[in-house]
Amino acid sequence: ASLDRIAAVDGAVHAFLHVDAEGALAQAAAADERRAAGQPASALDGVPIAVKDVLATRGLPTTCGSKILEGWVPPYDATVVAKLREAGLPILGKTNMDEFAMGSSTEHSAYGPTHNPWDLTRIPGGSGGGSAAAVAAFEAPLALGTDTGGSIRQPGAVTGTVGTKPTYGGVSRYGLVAMANSLDQVGPVTRTVLDAALLHELIGGHDPLDSTSIAQPLPGIVDAARQGATGDMSGVRIGVITELGGDGWQAGVQDRFRESLDLLVKAGADVVEVSCPSFVHALATYYLVMPAEASSNLAKFDAMRYGLRVLPEGVASPSAEEVMKATRAAGFGDEVKRRIMIGTYALSSGYYDAYYGQAQKVRTLISRDFAAAFESVDVLVSPTAPTTAFPIGEKVDDPLAMYLNDLATIPANLAGVPGISVPSGLASEDGLPAGFQILAPALADDRCYRVGAALE
Ligand code: GLN
Repeated sequence: ASLDRIAAVDGAVHAFLHVDAEGALAQAAAADERRAAGQPASALDGVPIAVKDVLATRGLPTTCGSKILEGWVPPYDATVVAKLREAGLPILGKTNMDEFAMGSSTEHSAYGPTHNPWDLTRIPGGSGGGSAAAVAAFEAPLALGTDTGGSIRQPGAVTGTVGTKPTYGGVSRYGLVAMANSLDQVGPVTRTVLDAALLHELIGGHDPLDSTSIAQPLPGIVDAARQGATGDMSGVRIGVITELGGDGWQAGVQDRFRESLDLLVKAGADVVEVSCPSFVHALATYYLVMPAEASSNLAKFDAMRYGLRVLPEGVASPSAEEVMKATRAAGFGDEVKRRIMIGTYALSSGYYDAYYGQAQKVRTLISRDFAAAFESVDVLVSPTAPTTAFPIGEKVDDPLAMYLNDLATIPANLAGVPGISVPSGLASEDGLPAGFQILAPALADDRCYRVGAALE
């Protein structure tokens, strides 16, 4: 049914970069046999899934939305992909994304934009717009995304789907093509909070192949989602982040946020306002830390080891450096080049302390604001994104306007804490979905699920 749906709508939505119909059907047939024998491999055995094209999949192309990886087929699986296979989930294919996960609209994909199923003239969010659109368009019941500054939660918000960024270190990054190692996390994109919890529990846990993976059991997130679904929020203390709302935030988005909050109060939660003053500096901090790490990570695309190789024109026997220059000039898009330049500048000697060093200090202040807030509340909440889906083309030439869409999601990545975005309804101005974000202390992902499930 998923493959039929993809065939019917993906020409218009363009959620997928690669569909593996044959592989998915073979995996589905094997799952049917296990079920018939009464031996399913997991609770999600046989449930098809779409995978963001930044995760290595053995035998399936992995481009990261970039020309520089065109034609590259990884010889290994990311740990999360290996876990999907072991649990019996047929992999439908790879989903579109902003090149190397840099963007908030999926317009920076080298393979053309993905369209929001709610309104095909609008963006599906980014960078994981393909995964969110696939789920929103009923092409896949489940998807995997990655979130470095909001790329699971913001697409979730603007497509009316559920998306989680787990605690940093809670899900293995092995086989995730790194954008910014200290910020990246893999997480679920689904239609319901319980689905997200089931998928999160499946992909999470310690992995010796990822040195930043936490060697501690995951909190009971499926149980927490089930508990939340009973609708009882008594005793839950919720903090509304003062700095994430107000002027400049779309009125309809804020209205839906307040309504969801009222529902939680009616369910018994205590709501207070909490100030996190450093959060106003989160965006500036992120746009130093992230490009710095990305510029270093992208150095490996040198025309020798992976994918594309372009020979410079009119040079009889080019040097390795000339081939590298020609390949990177042709293979990387403008946004990627912009961030490599920002990152190398921020890391260069003479500027390191003023930019990168300073950003690391502000990052600590953001973590401290979270820690202080979580002394008095169990979770912090805000709208996930300041606006609903904007029209394709509107912000593509204005990087700062694009970056501002991540205002509310970035603090969680800088501090390593978990967050979920759940649908809060449709904004009255444009009838488009808005998201409600729930943030919890590190390793307390279960709280996100408990509160999120109460809103369904
Ligand atoms: N939109 C943000 C950026 O452009 C976040 C991307 C992400 O989470 N991968 O960096």
